[in-house]
Order: sequence, then C-alpha cells, then structure tokens
Amino acid sequence: MSVISLVSYEDALASYDPVMGLEVHVELGTRTKMFCGCSTELGAEPNTQTCPTCLGLPGSLPVVNRIGVESAIRIGLALNCEIAEWCRFARKNYFYPDMPKNFQTSQYDEPIAFNGYLDVQLEDGEVFRVEIERAHMEEDTGKSTHVGGATGRIHGAEYSLLDYNRAGIPLIEIVTKPIVGAGARAPEVAKAYVTELRELIRTLGVSEARMDKGQMRCDVNLSLRPIGREKFGTRSETKNVNSLRSVERAARFEIQRHATVLADGGTIVQETRHFHEDNGTTTSGRIKEEAEDYRYFPEPDLVPIAPSREWVEELRAALPELPRVRRARLQAEWGLSDKDMQAVLNAGAVEPILETVAAGAPADQARKWWLGELARRANETGTELADQPITPAQVARVCALVAEGKLNDKLARQVIEGVLAGEGEPDEVVEKRGLAVVSDDSALGAAVDQAIADNPDVAAKIRDGKVQAVGALVGAVMKATRGQADAARVKDLILERLGA
Ligand code: ADP
Ligand code: MG
Ligand code: ZN
Repeated sequence: MSVISLVSYEDALASYDPVMGLEVHVELGTRTKMFCGCSTELGAEPNTQTCPTCLGLPGSLPVVNRIGVESAIRIGLALNCEIAEWCRFARKNYFYPDMPKNFQTSQYDEPIAFNGYLDVQLEDGEVFRVEIERAHMEEDTGKSTHVGGATGRIHGAEYSLLDYNRAGIPLIEIVTKPIVGAGARAPEVAKAYVTELRELIRTLGVSEARMDKGQMRCDVNLSLRPIGREKFGTRSETKNVNSLRSVERAARFEIQRHATVLADGGTIVQETRHFHEDNGTTTSGRIKEEAEDYRYFPEPDLVPIAPSREWVEELRAALPELPRVRRARLQAEWGLSDKDMQAVLNAGAVEPILETVAAGAPADQARKWWLGELARRANETGTELADQPITPAQVARVCALVAEGKLNDKLARQVIEGVLAGEGEPDEVVEKRGLAVVSDDSALGAAVDQAIADNPDVAAKIRDGKVQAVGALVGAVMKATRGQADAARVKDLILERLGA
C-alpha cells in the first residue's frame, strides 16, 4: 500500500472511532539483574555480564531482586494501582536466540500491580484519564545484531551476533486498559501518556527512562470501530516505538492505514508491526500469537511474592512528590495562570526555569527568557529547549546583569545570542561585543546635546513644561547609541539640560 492512497486523517475520524492500548516497557536502573547478581551496567564488552542463571544453564536457580520488586510496587502505587497481596512469576515459553532459557520469566494472570490510572494533561490543558490494566515484573532478553544486510534486520543478514549482557535485566511492563473516547486526539493522548509516565518513572528514580537508549519503549495497539458501534475492531500492535514523537506518529499512521483498509472493504489482521522513523509508516511484522500459544505456567523455581501491607504502606508514604502535584505547586509558586503554565509545559521549560531560579534569577525573568528567545530558537531548529547551547547559570547571569542595570533588554538579547553562538560566558560576550549599558554622564552628554540640537521644537516644548515630550529625545539618544544608553539616566540628563 502506498502512502499516497491513504485515507486522510480527517476522513478516517469522520467514520471511525479509534481505540488504543499502550504497553510500555521500562528497564529498571537496579545495580544487578532481576534474578541473578550480574551487573546491569551499559556499555560493557558483549557477554561479560552473564552467569549460569541468566544464561539458563542446567542446575542454575533464580533469586528475586528485592529492589526490582520494590520498584515495581512503587511504580504501581504512583499509578494509583492496587498492589497484589500475593502473586507469582510465570514462564512465557517461546524460542528466540536472544533468550537462552527458552522462556521469559514474566507475570501473567497475577501481576504485582493492577487497576490504576494516570491523569495526563493535553496541550490545551484538558486532563485525560488513562486507565491502567496492570504493571508487572519481567526480564529483558539479550540483544541480537544482524550483520551484513542493508537494513540491520535479520532478513538479508549474513550472520547474527548475540550479546546476553541485557538478558535478565529487570523490566516493568505497564499496560493500559483500552483507551476510548479520545477521538481525533488519540495520538496526542498516546504521546502525553508516555511523556507523563516517563516523568513519573524519573521522579521515582527507578530508571532514567531514556527512550533513545531503549530504557523505555512503547507498543502501540490500535483499532478502529465504526462511530456508534460498541464492539472493538481488530487491533494492530506497533512494537518498540522509541521516541515520544514516534508514538504520536505511529498512532496517527495506523488510524489512517486501518481506515484505508476498512474503507476498501478489507479486514485488519491482528499482527505486530514495525514503525519506520524515516517515513512515518508501519510495515507488517508477524501474525500475533494468542496468549495460550506461550503455554504460560507458574514459575516453579521462584517463591510467590507476598508484599506485606506494612511494607506497601511504608513505600506509599515515602513516595516523592509526583509530577502533577509538583507542577501544580510550581504554578502557584510562580503565580501563573493555567494558560501560562501550559505554555511553560508545552515548551519543556519547567526544568530550565527551575535551574535558572536555583542559579539566582527571579522566576519571572527566567521564564521570560526560556519562553521567549530560547523557545523560539528551539522551535526554529527543531531541538529540545533543554538542549540549547546555553546553561541555566548563563541565563541567570544575564538576568543579574539586567538587574544591576549593566544591560537593558535589548542588549541582554544580544548577549544571549552571543552565548548561543559560542562566544563564551555572558560577561565575555558583553566585553567582546562592547554591549554594556552606557550610563556614564560624560559619555552620554555629547549624544544628549546632539539630540537637543537636532530637535529644537521638542526641546522648546520641554522647556515650556511639556515634560512628556522627553520620550522623543530619549529615543533619539538611544538610536544614536545603538540602544546602549541607560534610558533612565538619559531622561534625567535631558531634563537637567533643559531646566525642566
Ligand atoms: P498482548 O500481550 O497480546 O499485546 P496485552 O493485554 O498485554 O496483550 O496488551 C494489549 C493492549 O491492547 C492493552 O493495552 C489493551 O488494553 C489493548 N487492546 C486490547 N484490545 C484492543 C483493541 N481491540 N483495540 C485497541 N487496543 C486494544
Ligand atoms: Mg503486547
Ligand atoms: Zn547472571
């Protein structure tokens, strides 16, 4: 199917209602693996962080990582879930070369956390509740590298390399209930949900949740049903989408693709699909297995997990301030309207502003620069606000120079420009570009005299007591000094000279 023949997004939504399900895998940042003592450190030589247990050698036995369980419970609590009083691990049986045990130790019908929700805020400020089906513990697989082909996929490769360092790293899989009622905003909801979940995970300190490093990955399940029909359609499952933007694009593309197939009288097959970053499309993966194909059964080598209620309550009481609560607090502290706060959030400016304030700037000044000049630049260059080549400390220094009267707004903007252009620290840019405000009377005097001489009518008015006319002369001096004069001092000098 070519991209050209796709039903438009608007037409798809005019006839169909999207239903979505998001499965997010988070690699925990524990020091050791889920069922053995091997290190989880990234970047080691292949197959140097393995042992008989994570390689599935005969006679080896797993032992549960306590921090892994604790992290799972904390994630569950932060997602408003119930925590199981008793649950077990299960074996999910299938063969794949990157999984030496031939089964994945996972949880099936007895997840550690279930029945929760996460409220996410959309770009227009509306809050959408995403219901959570369950959060369960499992382990990651090893990593295959397919060598010799054009695509890096197994098809066309000459041979494959296997690295088992990742096999057995703890994963938490968080599965939503079917998300209904989002309509045309389904892709936006998907992105907002993964964004909020990522922030939550980071706030809990259980993972860095870097999607670009595969520490967090999302499967996007999507189906369409004719508007007004109760029954869900058949879903596709786009696997391992690894950026926030891709989550949104994958959902959007699948809505259009499903609509195209359905409008043509075709049927959707339940299958996994791959998302392609380069053109924003998905292609078919494999026909979806049913749960029974995996022959799940309770893991006989591990004891059940029965977290005591005291432990769970202890963990609940020790949860950090969660992102939504924190945002509300900052909004109040910064005295922002809902709309202004939303602008801060949409620009990704919360952390930069906080760090700028921590470096000594007033919040309103910090917000002004990050949402103004810097957000504009981030937009223009398609980069994250936090990745601009200027630090919060540098922005704070510019704010301080303005507060001390050494820079006015216009000059400050040029200093920011200079820092972004790699010209050094704010003070160096001021020095090199000669940007300091001129407030020294002898330096300003000549420009003031010239402005009076050039505008005799205005000068006469001021002498006659029409003091408000002084603005025109101040403007002339500012122009002559290329904006570098201290405007307040200039005004005083003019009024002094004209005896007003
Ligand atoms: P599997 O492991 O087979 O993918 P899961 O239950 O783990 O099954 O995940 C399926 C995800 O898809 C869940 O988030 C679920 O809410 C969602 N889902 C189930 N049925 C549909 C459907 N018809 N359309 C869209 N999403 C669905
Ligand atoms: Mg799935
Ligand atoms: Zn091991």
